[in-house]
Amino acid sequence: MPADPNAPPLPQPDALTRPFWEACRRRVLEVSACQACQHLFLPPGPRCPRCWSDRLAVRGVSGEGSVFSFGVYRRSYHPALPEPYTVALIQLREGPRLISNVVGCAPEEVRVGMPVRVRFDDVGEFTLPRFEPARTEAR
Ligand SMILES: [Zn+2]
Repeated sequence: MPADPNAPPLPQPDALTRPFWEACRRRVLEVSACQACQHLFLPPGPRCPRCWSDRLAVRGVSGEGSVFSFGVYRRSYHPALPEPYTVALIQLREGPRLISNVVGCAPEEVRVGMPVRVRFDDVGEFTLPRFEPARTEAR
């Protein structure tokens, strides 16, 4: 059966990235953690990009961060991705960066440095980590 052309584009995990997506399914954001130099990084890889050690583990992180850079798409390139939408490089509080979307606010509200927090959206068989503005909560 041919693939549904309207189905949303989804990740294609391999042996290295599958644990990341499985953690997202559990609503946990995980990063790679080097056991030799303690460097935290994304995306997952076979070696630490800082010291080349292959002694790697994973670590759950807070899901809090800020917008490092972003772009607003004002043309739809896929039926499942209506414009406008925001693609952003998110700086996690713990250090690693990842590419995601900023959701939960108008694209015009997105700013570099804006505090954001992860949220997990179920899309097909995947759970995608996206980021929304971090609301200041009364304590
Ligand atoms: Zn390292």
